[in-house]
Amino acid sequence: MKRQIKLFAVLAIVLAAGASCNNNPLGDLPLWVVLGPCYAGHTWELESHKEPTCMETGEDVYVCSVCGKEKTDILAKIPHAFGDDPNECIYCHNLFYSSLDEFNEKVTLENAKGKIVEVALGNLDYSDIEYEEHNSGYKGNGLLIGRLPGGDIEPLNRYNAEPAEKGEYTFIFKDGTINSSSNGYSSIDNINGSVIYMLIPGNSSVTFENVVFNNVVSFGIQNYTSPWSYLDSIRFENCIFNGLVVGYSPADNLVFNGCTFNEYLNGYQDVGTFNSSNNSNPIWMRSGKPSYSGEPLVVSMKTVVFTNNTVTSSRPVKFERIGQLSEALGYTATLTILDNQFDMSCSNDADVSEEEKHMALFLGQQDNTSKFILYDDGNKVNDGIPMYTSMLPDSDTTSGGTYYFEVLGTRILDRNGNPKEITARVWKSLSEEFVMRSL
Ligand SMILES: [Zn+2]
Ligand SMILES: [Zn+2]
Repeated sequence: MKRQIKLFAVLAIVLAAGASCNNNPLGDLPLWVVLGPCYAGHTWELESHKEPTCMETGEDVYVCSVCGKEKTDILAKIPHAFGDDPNECIYCHNLFYSSLDEFNEKVTLENAKGKIVEVALGNLDYSDIEYEEHNSGYKGNGLLIGRLPGGDIEPLNRYNAEPAEKGEYTFIFKDGTINSSSNGYSSIDNINGSVIYMLIPGNSSVTFENVVFNNVVSFGIQNYTSPWSYLDSIRFENCIFNGLVVGYSPADNLVFNGCTFNEYLNGYQDVGTFNSSNNSNPIWMRSGKPSYSGEPLVVSMKTVVFTNNTVTSSRPVKFERIGQLSEALGYTATLTILDNQFDMSCSNDADVSEEEKHMALFLGQQDNTSKFILYDDGNKVNDGIPMYTSMLPDSDTTSGGTYYFEVLGTRILDRNGNPKEITARVWKSLSEEFVMRSL
């Protein structure tokens, strides 16, 4: 019986193969040539193997020994692991804190140096900060990142401290909600009560990732170091802003990538006649000033990257004092504005029919020597609403921080570095335009 079944099976295969061959439209070629030698499946052999770590994925690369096809299997990262020190991974030696309180209490300059320090934020409310050192510091409502002087362990930064080298300190604050208690401000020069105050080393790299910011936020640091300092970079990755970002950039390099800015009106109650709703810019940031003594010359916001963001508002995202001291300091301010989506059609109770303020992006240079490079591409704005705006200076105006100056050396480019011209609208004007072009 068994033998009969076997025989029948062999006969069936021979018949099937024969039938296929007779119907072969390509003539007498054998079936395996027509369908490929691996029609029944490749014969995978492991070519190379890269072990995953807690910081990087690994991979197995296979090659088919019959046809030479290659495939790669990505191996998931392994989890960080902890030994005697509950914060330091035994593999990558980076530091992990499960709350801002834990970070503020435990992190030190020694153990954080050269490492990535990651802090899970959770839900955080503003509280009272009382920090004063030699007339520097901050007093008022805010969120303190880091530790004040006066405790058992030295703070990460303080008055007259030496700034770190760039690259020495890297902080990632992620996965949380920061609830500012400020719902508005009277002017960019008076933004008390909104600050996220970071007492971390000068020249640090800071990232906020997957954080929701509610209400009005600004960013403060201890500048009165020796010498005066800013952070190297501050990055916002995939953050949500249910409010406004205002004040000077605390870092040389400012990045907003993949963020969402939801509609919000400045709720400051002014005793005068000015309607604060006018200042409802999702971002209004400027290059920070050098020390009051003027030496050394250090400014912030030398580069701005604004990419893949979604903005819903009634007033433009605003970067001002662009290119501050760029000649003296030998840099060219660079703005990379790519692939953002703007809906600027939100209503604003400060709107008046004689003035147009619904525009996507306001750029203002420090003065008539502040050349800059703009990479612009892939941005989408509602039909009829201008992408760029600025104020045009009078013939005797040479500085101010909020004007569009035509400066030799300015480059207006697409994402590939090709020159382009952009027609922009004069701030508040219903129709007056100017052209941004390379000079
Ligand atoms: Zn194959
Ligand atoms: Zn690790």
